[in-house]
Amino acid sequence: MKAAVYEGKEMLTVQERDIPTIQSGELLLKIHSCCVCGTDLRTYRNGDKKIAPGRILGHEFYGEIVESAITEDQPGDLKVGDRVVMYIVIPCGKCRYCLAGMPNLCINRTTISYQHDGAFAEYMRVPAACVDRGHVYKIDPEIETSRLCVAEPLGCVINAHGRLNVGLKDKVAIIGAGPIGVMHGLVSRFSGAQEVYMLDTSANRLKITETFGFDNYIQVDKDGNHFEKINELTDGFGPSVVIVACSSPYAQADALEMAGKAARVEFFGGLPKSNPFATLNTNHLHYKELLVTGSYSEKKSDFEASLALVTNPAFPADKIVTHRLPLDRITDAFGLMETGESLKVRIDVA
Ligand SMILES: [Zn+2]
Ligand SMILES: [Zn+2]
Repeated sequence: MKAAVYEGKEMLTVQERDIPTIQSGELLLKIHSCCVCGTDLRTYRNGDKKIAPGRILGHEFYGEIVESAITEDQPGDLKVGDRVVMYIVIPCGKCRYCLAGMPNLCINRTTISYQHDGAFAEYMRVPAACVDRGHVYKIDPEIETSRLCVAEPLGCVINAHGRLNVGLKDKVAIIGAGPIGVMHGLVSRFSGAQEVYMLDTSANRLKITETFGFDNYIQVDKDGNHFEKINELTDGFGPSVVIVACSSPYAQADALEMAGKAARVEFFGGLPKSNPFATLNTNHLHYKELLVTGSYSEKKSDFEASLALVTNPAFPADKIVTHRLPLDRITDAFGLMETGESLKVRIDVA
């Protein structure tokens, strides 16, 4: 089979691999499509010590069961021919965080495309633990593929919103008009936010998100005109929620700067592991009583909420995918993402 294999920084090659063999309790999926994640881009550009060379990346996928070694004691009624998506975290189920309902923070967790081969390949093996825990979801084949491929990242966005509690009293500013920023904007709107503002340094990126009809689009510039604009829009009070949806220490500093008093601030994306430091004016936390939080990955319940949203026709999940490429051209996706030409790029494997 054809697979896109990570071999180190700036090295992702499409090569011939054996079709995985499955053991008792496992499934084999034929992959239909898989979206390229911001973390795939970060791994490609900067490398990632957690991912061993030789690993097949790709975790935002949709596929079909083509072989099953499921045993009688495993839950669900999965069978060959079913189309499925997956919650890709494999938690231990036993550690303090798992027992407290936070499997995303499991100290023993493994994840598809990190410790197990992912879906930038024609076939993918589903570990037995995923079936055991009900992480494989059968999907109505009528549902549009692009909707399904954004379920995984949207689940991560929903996990972040669990702590932000956006509601009818909120004006939300989002820094980073990429696919994740758009998802934060949409979830904010579905949660009842009064207004959603999209900010980015790139006019291209702002332009491409206009189709979602957010309330204002603000270009971030060196002179700080974006702060004035945000102030105007919020009657001088500043947004009550600020979400950083990009990997930039400057955006993190800007978020604290523009946040209103008692605002909730979310640093969604990680910074490159090679330089994860930001210079922040922490007096804003003190004088404005800010609540600053991060979020990592998603819980099973977030993924399930995401599936409900992406399959809701009122939620424009399909518009988040702006480009489609064949597996051979996977590295072209990174350029499209970096220039802001694309939102999500979907790799069509089959
Ligand atoms: Zn992802
Ligand atoms: Zn655990």
